Amino acid sequence: MTDAREGRLMGRTRVQGARDGGSGMKAVLLLSGGIDSTVVAYQLAHWGRQVHAISFHYGQTHQRELKFAQRTADKLYFRHSQIHMSRPFGSSVLTGAGTIPEGLDQSVVVPGRNLIFLSYALAIALQDGAEAIYIGATADDAEVFPDCRHEFIDAFQQVASFADDRPVPVLNATFVNETKVGVIQAGELLGVPWEATYSCYRGKEKHCGRCGACAARSQAFEALEVTDPTTYNRNPLVTIEKAGA
Ligand SMILES: [Zn+2]
Repeated sequence: MTDAREGRLMGRTRVQGARDGGSGMKAVLLLSGGIDSTVVAYQLAHWGRQVHAISFHYGQTHQRELKFAQRTADKLYFRHSQIHMSRPFGSSVLTGAGTIPEGLDQSVVVPGRNLIFLSYALAIALQDGAEAIYIGATADDAEVFPDCRHEFIDAFQQVASFADDRPVPVLNATFVNETKVGVIQAGELLGVPWEATYSCYRGKEKHCGRCGACAARSQAFEALEVTDPTTYNRNPLVTIEKAGA
């Protein structure tokens, strides 16, 4: 990586980090155990934030990623809350409504998911006196997931400002304009142990290699020529566009 590239990455993260007031400030992080939120976790640790990470049992068909979230939170000395929803939601293949497809399509969208997660995060941040909330949404996610888009993030911040009479936490989507390639570049600078992240929608011990999450993960490492320590059950899809071809 060139010095200029490295400087640009670090420069952006400093700007984003400055929005919550600096080292030692409290932040709430939506932590899934995947690459994006794990890199945000390492950013927050790097900046010296006092982090309360939250993860959700929302009816997803497997819990494997939550174990990775727990390990990352423990490693970084974050407080970690796992929130169990007694009435799981979501008409998505991720919640059992059909078969996980090869590649990425609309069937993996869980309607309302980030709206609910961020509402929890807001309530917890107000309870904790936290100044910021972090979510690991990326520009890649935005192609399929409406609640990862810039417009949604901005609109949620506006709604949040009416939810309490006190000043509300700032919502930071550090990577909302960044691709997964950029996220991994940032993670490389932070020393993120990639084997401590889990992406696969199918939830087996080995990443399946064929689902949209596996394809995106594999392609991003390959594009960067960064060693991908992931063990895939089958050769990963070379491009998402080839899904189903
Ligand atoms: Zn997979």
